[in-house]
Amino acid sequence: MGFWNVREYVLYRDNHTCQYCKGKKKDPVLQVHHIESRKTGGDSPDNLITLCKTCHHEIHEKGLEHIFQRKRPPMRDASQMTAMRWAMFSRIREKYSHANITYGYITKCIRIANGLSKSHMVDARCISGDPLAKPSGTVYLLKFVRKNNRQLHKATILKGGKRKSNKAPRFVKGFQLFDKVVYERKECFIFGRRSSGYFDLRLLDGTKVHASASWKKLKRVEHASTLLIERRKGDSSPTFALA
Ligand SMILES: [Zn+2]
Ligand SMILES: [Zn+2]
Repeated sequence: MGFWNVREYVLYRDNHTCQYCKGKKKDPVLQVHHIESRKTGGDSPDNLITLCKTCHHEIHEKGLEHIFQRKRPPMRDASQMTAMRWAMFSRIREKYSHANITYGYITKCIRIANGLSKSHMVDARCISGDPLAKPSGTVYLLKFVRKNNRQLHKATILKGGKRKSNKAPRFVKGFQLFDKVVYERKECFIFGRRSSGYFDLRLLDGTKVHASASWKKLKRVEHASTLLIERRKGDSSPTFALA
């Protein structure tokens, strides 16, 4: 995003504090030092560190450049990650031609440049490329769950025709774990079930709706899936960080 932005980012990351004297020298002039030379190491944030002018001068004067180490992940992990990312990305691209790659530091950069506070919702805005978009008044809470319907689970149940554990069967009165249901006009999820037909109902964040609601009062709105989505009225407007 250009050196100027990266410089701003590095200053922010380092708390506008010299990373050598930690501010003890009380020099208000801050500079951004290249750990490896700009020519070989480049302008990426992991090659940059904040130093006060006094320390910066001292480090170059005394030839102490080697004391700073670039923070880089091990090469093996990094290359594996890259191969996996590319494979995933090319498959996504086949389906969604407008898909693009972005990086955490870009999100962070956009967030800081727009003076926004740190939250998942703000990060999503920054990734979308429209960090100051007008909020719709609705937020979605997502949760991934296991459905326990893999072959392994089915096999254990079928063997000998009996259940191994004392858990309720997968379907009770036609309902299963994580079905989205309406109970007394409230949308919630099945978090627990008893073979007697009574259900533990909750919102996705775990808030109890009813600990033992009868199946007769439930209406399913969505079958269980590994990705549960709860729609809420809420404000996703970006809050501004204090300068
Ligand atoms: Zn210093
Ligand atoms: Zn330097």
